[in-house]
Amino acid sequence: MFNSGSFHAASSHAESNTSGRTARATQAAIRHGDRQFLWHPYAPRTSPTDNLVVDSTDGVHLTLGSGQRVIDGMSSWWAAAHGHGYPHITAAAHRQIDTMSHVMFGGLTHAPAVELGERLIALCPSMDSVFFSDSGSVAIEVALKMALQAQRGLGRPDKTRFLTWRGGYHGDTQGPMSVCDPDNGMHSLWGSVLRPQVFVDAPPPRGSSSADLRAYMETVRAELVRPDSDIAGVIVEPIVQGAGGMTFHDAELLRHLRELCTETSTVLIFDEIATGFGRTGRILACDHAGVAPDILCLGKALTGGFMSFAATLAAEWIARAIDTPAGGGALMHGPTFMGNPLACAVACAALDLIDSGYWKESVPRIEQELRDGLEDLADHPAVADVRCLGAIGVVEMREPLDMALATRTVVEHGVWLRPFGRLLYTMPPFISTSEHIATITRAMRAVVAAHTPGEGLS
Ligand code: PMP
Repeated sequence: MFNSGSFHAASSHAESNTSGRTARATQAAIRHGDRQFLWHPYAPRTSPTDNLVVDSTDGVHLTLGSGQRVIDGMSSWWAAAHGHGYPHITAAAHRQIDTMSHVMFGGLTHAPAVELGERLIALCPSMDSVFFSDSGSVAIEVALKMALQAQRGLGRPDKTRFLTWRGGYHGDTQGPMSVCDPDNGMHSLWGSVLRPQVFVDAPPPRGSSSADLRAYMETVRAELVRPDSDIAGVIVEPIVQGAGGMTFHDAELLRHLRELCTETSTVLIFDEIATGFGRTGRILACDHAGVAPDILCLGKALTGGFMSFAATLAAEWIARAIDTPAGGGALMHGPTFMGNPLACAVACAALDLIDSGYWKESVPRIEQELRDGLEDLADHPAVADVRCLGAIGVVEMREPLDMALATRTVVEHGVWLRPFGRLLYTMPPFISTSEHIATITRAMRAVVAAHTPGEGLS
């Protein structure tokens, strides 16, 4: 039940003053309501920590309730790749919302969905079918289902499991959780509940020798060629493993995987929900390898971070196999908000920015600036590793970070970051200037200093 004593009452007087600062009473009411009722990602409900109130966003900035502006060094979890409120996307959203915000997709279609479908296929020409859904996790559920139905359609109903490498992350619903790293913090609770999948070691890190890569791929091959193999598909995040540990691997591995999957009629699924749309310096991370999967998942920056939306693309043979009687006759999925016109129109506007190519200059510059600002930390005694790729910069500490201290430190330096475990990392918006990146790297260095006895805040 709504408690009219707290936020609602306060917010009816919730004036921001002319400087944009939310009234102190309103901020307090928001915090209070938040603690009273709301779950936050991976956070305890009954002993909540204080979340920062955000009043508004513009460009690379979040404006906090206190009036302080901080740089969104996370692009709001990879999504706001072009910053917040990009005028071209905002205008498209307004236009679409005035025309048609939502309509069911069963038996109906519309121009925004068709335009987006065509444009996604143009980005990934080896695909020919697009399934729209409402979040990255659902896009993965759909990809897994596509692979299983396609295998049935090809007369292999006994192929029912998926192979993946450790260290991966694919979302929080049951299917994706089953292919996330089985041991790391996020989903280790579920070992006895989830479908047991086939896990091979985490991929060798970027820069491994060809001999190491070949030896590693032999272990993958061994699983796939076993006469009793029940593996329907291989699912991986190409080039960058994100929430599973922010690690990078070599493109050569993807070429090996592609060959192996083709050879063994295994469906190859690339999860580019985090890496897609320029984050690694190429439109898709798999472009670094020059290979395409059979099924491709996109999300996050698909709408430029305006709203939750995702797409699962499939090669022609997948759709054909699914549509046979043995395959089920049709893909058995159909979310209520499938093909939401507002999200499709917004995604088309975000694609305009991708097509404009501006990021092809800014992402390499950001990579260089992240390197310049962070790489020497690799010699710091508290730091285990520093790695940068595209608009991603990671400082891996030797010990777990103190989240409260890290958060306080970055905010004091005018930046928003959300570290986890031993990982302090940034994936800033592509519109970030050199000055923004310097501010972010200064904040990260201050976190390292704050975790180093004797150094204190710098
Ligand atoms: N795959 C990857 C690689 C992701 O990073 C995420 C989200 N962090 C997902 C899937 C799940 O997406 P969503 O949170 O939109 O369900």
